[in-house]
Order: sequence, then C-alpha cells, then structure tokens
Amino acid sequence: MTPPIEYDPDAVHPALLTFRWIVRRNGDDASYEASGTCPVCTCPMTRRWTFGQPPVAKGGFFGRREEPGPEPYYTVCQCRTLHMNRPPSEPLGCGALLAIAPPPAPGSSAGATP
Ligand SMILES: [Zn+2]
Ligand SMILES: [Zn+2]
Repeated sequence: MTPPIEYDPDAVHPALLTFRWIVRRNGDDASYEASGTCPVCTCPMTRRWTFGQPPVAKGGFFGRREEPGPEPYYTVCQCRTLHMNRPPSEPLGCGALLAIAPPPAPGSSAGATP
C-alpha cells in the first residue's frame, strides 16, 4: 500500500479513459453515470451527467449538454479519498482533469449495461 497522493490541481490525464456507463431514464430526462478508476490517483470514482433538462439556476453542472453526443467527457477526479492539500472548495478527488470516452450510442450493440 502506498499512501494517497497529494491533491494536484494541475494534473491532467489527456488520454481517453473507458469508464462503465450506467444510463437512467426518467421521462424526458436521462442521467448518465460513468464509473471507473482515476489513473492519476488510482481511486475508484463516479461522475454523473444529466441530459434533457433546461439549465437550472443552482448550477454546478460541468459541461451540460442536451444530448450525450460523441465527444469525450471532461471531469475532475471525483474519488472519495482524502488527498492531502485538497482545498476546502473541492470536496472530492485528487484534482486531476480526466477525459472519459462517451457512452455508446443508444441502440448500439455495445450496450451500456453489463
Ligand atoms: Zn483519489
Ligand atoms: Zn484522482
């Protein structure tokens, strides 16, 4: 076991990651949840995006889209490990910016559920 790495807001992992997508539908809205391992800190993490709703005032959505689309998804690491020197404004993660491969298109044979 190695101790958790320090929080690093400059860490970037530009290579596309393949995470496991879970899609939940609720009427016209869909939430897409990507789960996988952050390659920078090696912790498991989950990030959720919601589609179909108009933007809401409370905000907090990073890169909201109308549709999932084919582009990569960018998120900062959302792991639950307490990384040293993490600022109070960041409740989760190691600070690394990750690029996640988009979910399979609806109807594709790849399938979103295992
Ligand atoms: Zn971590
Ligand atoms: Zn991380």
